[in-house]
Amino acid sequence: MSGRRRLVIAVDGPAGAGKSTVAKRVAERLGLDYLDSGAMYRALAWKALKRGIDLRDEDQLTALLAKTSIVLDSDPQGRPRIRVDGQEVGEALRSPEVNAAVSLVAGFARVRAEMVARQREMAAAGGVVMDGRDIGTNVLPNADLKFFLTASLRARAERRWRELRDQGFAVDLETVAEEIAHRDQLDAGRAVGPLRQAPDAILIDTTDSDIETVVEELLRYCRPRVCRS
Ligand code: C5P
Repeated sequence: MSGRRRLVIAVDGPAGAGKSTVAKRVAERLGLDYLDSGAMYRALAWKALKRGIDLRDEDQLTALLAKTSIVLDSDPQGRPRIRVDGQEVGEALRSPEVNAAVSLVAGFARVRAEMVARQREMAAAGGVVMDGRDIGTNVLPNADLKFFLTASLRARAERRWRELRDQGFAVDLETVAEEIAHRDQLDAGRAVGPLRQAPDAILIDTTDSDIETVVEELLRYCRPRVCRS
């Protein structure tokens, strides 16, 4: 395995800041794997909702997670894919129901401990870009590069609203803005693995930038590392 494959990049930030799109493109351009840690919490919330499990019951959620396989990889076309217990789940993880449930599920210490252990294992060989909320602070504190992407609530809500609309969900902008603000509050306020910028993370405000400009900005920081490694 070449040194280049071993680069580890953490991308954190609040909902709708453009993390996943940016992280995915940076990974593609550098030949690294993209790991969406949020999809793992979404997968658990999705399965719990399907099973009618009480989302406030940490014991039941922890037991459910222990029996749940979550695999992040790419499909034959190279697009990121997530499989839960062998079943490919895509858009279902982005539904308004999962959006409303996920931060609750992600707030439990034992759920997080198991997710973080799995995430570290996935990143152990290096060569990854992982996005989430606590990647630079907690999951991969020794990452080679850490970014914290942010944007105004308005800009983030508009992006999420467009995404949901394009996926066929009928939602209004104000509802999306409220949902995002509420989720940020839960994510930033929880005791374990809160949404926080690592002291050594590079802060990038994406409010007025298009995605490709942000991708280029990240790549400017990454390229010297890729060349050196
Ligand atoms: O990034 P995404 O919006 O898909 O994340 C969904 C939710 O999963 C977040 O709102 C947060 O509650 C949780 N999450 C987390 N820690 C991470 C990634 C996501 O708690 N590293």
